[in-house]
Amino acid sequence: MTNKSIHIVGAGLVGSLWAYLLKQKGFTVHVFEKRADPRKAAADRGRSINLIVTSRGLDGLKKAGLINSILPTTVPVYGRLMHALDGATQYQAYGRNNSECNYAVSRGDLNKTLIQKCADVGVVFHFEHELSDTDIHSKTLTFANGIQTKYEHAFATDGAGSIIRKKLHVLNPNTYQENVSFISSDYKELYLPPDANGQPVLEKNNLHIWPRGTHMLMALANTDNSFTLTLYLPRTNHPWSFDSIKTKERVHALFKTEFQDVMPLVPNLESQFLENPQGSLGTVRFSQWHLEDSIALMGDAAHAIVPFFGQGMNCGFEDVTNLLEILEASEWNFKKALTLYSQTRIKNANAIAEMALENFVEMSDKVGDKNFLLQKKIESILEKEFPTEYRSRYGMITYTLIPYAKAQEAGLIQARLLADIAKQTPRIEDLDLSFCHNQMKREWIPWLRTQGIQLDRYTV
Ligand SMILES: Cc1cc2nc3c(=O)[nH]c(=O)nc-3n(C[C@H](O)[C@H](O)[C@H](O)COP(=O)(O)OP(=O)(O)OC[C@H]3O[C@@H](n4cnc5c(N)ncnc54)[C@H](O)[C@@H]3O)c2cc1C
Repeated sequence: MTNKSIHIVGAGLVGSLWAYLLKQKGFTVHVFEKRADPRKAAADRGRSINLIVTSRGLDGLKKAGLINSILPTTVPVYGRLMHALDGATQYQAYGRNNSECNYAVSRGDLNKTLIQKCADVGVVFHFEHELSDTDIHSKTLTFANGIQTKYEHAFATDGAGSIIRKKLHVLNPNTYQENVSFISSDYKELYLPPDANGQPVLEKNNLHIWPRGTHMLMALANTDNSFTLTLYLPRTNHPWSFDSIKTKERVHALFKTEFQDVMPLVPNLESQFLENPQGSLGTVRFSQWHLEDSIALMGDAAHAIVPFFGQGMNCGFEDVTNLLEILEASEWNFKKALTLYSQTRIKNANAIAEMALENFVEMSDKVGDKNFLLQKKIESILEKEFPTEYRSRYGMITYTLIPYAKAQEAGLIQARLLADIAKQTPRIEDLDLSFCHNQMKREWIPWLRTQGIQLDRYTV
């Protein structure tokens, strides 16, 4: 193995983790990245996304032996706190107990740490190398700076706009079907500093959500007690669309009307809003993720998804652990392994893509809906009372390694079960556990059995 050389295009989160793992397996690893070295660039507030790392991401970091370097740079998040228009708040715990939580981390910081770890073990980085073309017959990568290099195995981790994916699609559109769709909302990041004493101005270990139906604001803490706010608004055709908010007065009016309690906490709110970039959110679906033994797509290059389940990077890290497992099981037979990876992984990526789209409605709208909240309360009681028999779809995705497609299937059964129980239990105080268990026996428990899923076995 040691004489083999691997080429990776894109030094984002997924490319860096993959490079690190392959280097540990003895390969010579070259990573080509269009940006300059991010370790040398200054922090860029308003442009740095905060991410939630959950089971699949943690599993990837554990398998690389990096978990102890990363966890101290994260903030544990135990639940979500909804802020209503009148300032009232409502809390929903995420996990079944306090050992289950999500970890918030700055995407930029995580990326820099991973690149540094790679550099420490001898991964060779080629920054300011923007891939402009790939010749799949001569196995050549061509960069915008004129440099060309030959590869034996190339991995495309060049993000949602992947050049390699587009090239495969253009060459063979029937085999490589590409579907890219954007949602009608965009986002902007805003910076919320700590108070004058350096203390956080919101409860630090929660995800804060201000759900407003068609739009919402979210806040996640950083380790220095500041918060990153993410504002999601319709792009156009709405009284509070990004297109309609182009002046300081309109920014002021938006926050005064919709997010009044946050307003005094954000310095230079109007100029931050007007100056920070506006990002779009989309889903990329691609029908085949490999070419023979020579190319494979991973991370957003294969499956960009909207961020409302907090799973884009987590799913990308699972690509990494999954592919490594398959390659090892095949004794590094790349053709066999890449084919199997492509076949097994796509249905899971499509499942999380759909669930992430559904979650936009849940987060922006349903978190204020009484029946939805009742069902969530019932669900959290079921998870506590029947720990080996019931696990919410959210829990399966966030705290286990149960494949996404299975969790999606489970979610459909759970939705029916919770609706039935809620119908019988308009007040949570009247919840009858034996009735709940009987309902579970009808469809849910048989499904678990037929799938061979033992819930407690899957916890990371
Ligand atoms: C607002 C928001 C919130 C999110 N929240 C979460 C979350 O909570 N949890 C989560 O798991 N995910 C989240 N995500 C998704 C997550 O950011 C992505 O899934 C993740 O960054 C994908 O990593 P990647 O390495 O595949 O791609 P990228 O991070 O996009 O990295 C691609 C790399 O390739 C480089 N590149 C691109 N083109 C070329 C080229 N032609 N030549 C050379 N290099 C190139 C880029 O510069 C970049 O370094 C969120 C995304 C957004 C937008």
